[in-house]
Amino acid sequence: MNVKAPRGTNDILPPLSLQWQYVEKVYRDLMAVYNYHEARTPIFEYTELFQRGIGDTTDVVEKEMYTFTDKGGRSVTLRPEGTASIVRAFMENKLYGQSLPVKFYYIGPMFRYERPQAGRFRQFHQLGVEVFGSNDPALDAEVIILGINYLNKLGLKNLQLYINSIGCPECRKEYFRVFRTYLEDYHDVLCKDCQGRLERNPMRILDCKEESCSKAVKEAPRVLDYLCDDCREHFEEVKVYLNNLGLDYIIDPNIVRGLDYYTNTVFEVKYAGLGAQDTVLAGGRYNGLAEELGGKAVPGVGFAMGMERLMLTLEKESAELPGEPDLDLFIVTIGDKAKKAAFKYIYQLRNKGYISEIDYMERSVKSQMKAADRMNAKYTVILVEDELCKGKAILKNMQNGEQMEISLDNLVEEIEEYIK
Ligand SMILES: [Zn+2]
Ligand SMILES: [Zn+2]
Repeated sequence: MNVKAPRGTNDILPPLSLQWQYVEKVYRDLMAVYNYHEARTPIFEYTELFQRGIGDTTDVVEKEMYTFTDKGGRSVTLRPEGTASIVRAFMENKLYGQSLPVKFYYIGPMFRYERPQAGRFRQFHQLGVEVFGSNDPALDAEVIILGINYLNKLGLKNLQLYINSIGCPECRKEYFRVFRTYLEDYHDVLCKDCQGRLERNPMRILDCKEESCSKAVKEAPRVLDYLCDDCREHFEEVKVYLNNLGLDYIIDPNIVRGLDYYTNTVFEVKYAGLGAQDTVLAGGRYNGLAEELGGKAVPGVGFAMGMERLMLTLEKESAELPGEPDLDLFIVTIGDKAKKAAFKYIYQLRNKGYISEIDYMERSVKSQMKAADRMNAKYTVILVEDELCKGKAILKNMQNGEQMEISLDNLVEEIEEYIK
């Protein structure tokens, strides 16, 4: 067959899919404890949502979106991230009229048309949370703690939390003035993109990956030093909540989100030992996003993490992840009548929750025993057609080799009695 999976996509097959399920289950279980509930939004949205919600001058929107025109002539885009869709759903369903805050989580595939390279895929997966309706600094702290709590539950140690505040549009007025003055001397060394950003979106220069730009802003003033009273107070409160839990953090004024609707707290959780791409989880406040999307002003805070990088981190940490579970029981059959009987028995055993299997490959007894071994069956039952009339079968304990006769009449009960 010549058809291959599209470039930049992966098949998640067993045993890997079982590890993903585990990582997702730990996530869902913890979310329930923190009273967050799942939001499932469409995989595609009208393109405009992402242009406005992510910012049409970002690389994601300019170069990386999976955008196409559908048969109705509308431009739609496979979602490149989770936040914009969830804000849209919150506004569209008028959830601001309900009891606030609303606390969502999501898990799912995202799409970006990137050049596939190590750790970057065109279909990748994210886990995230979004909280709407409150500017309480306790929620910033809750979202941070929730993220770290989750990573700890998966067995990750070596984590470091970095936090910063990027203020509000009010603090940025003064900051931008100072920042632009500082950059006057560096105008010519900035990349073309950043020269354009100087007017529209100066904070994004701090994010630029071009070496000459990151050099130019190395000594630049930081917004953290220009916070208005409200924003300084907000950041202090977040720190108090974190301090009260004894949570270690580093204040890193270099963490920024370059778009206007991000406000106040931003944070990253890094894992030592991942190299340059060491951020496992990142998030922050976006009090201006709902309004940017044409809705009411609704404060929001959240985080997102990439599943693929998370799995890589768990591998680095040698965290314990489940594989395919062992079989409780394999019924070895000799002859067609035995097979028919066995099919009925495994149905009953499976109904009781025992992981059980029979042979579908017309294997010899010896090969069936081997197959049972390969699946780490704890027990086998041997059903022989010629002996069905005697009403007996053999149950074998595969761990110690012990064998015993059990009666066919209440085979399932006898097996259950023994397995317990
Ligand atoms: Zn402010
Ligand atoms: Zn640049």
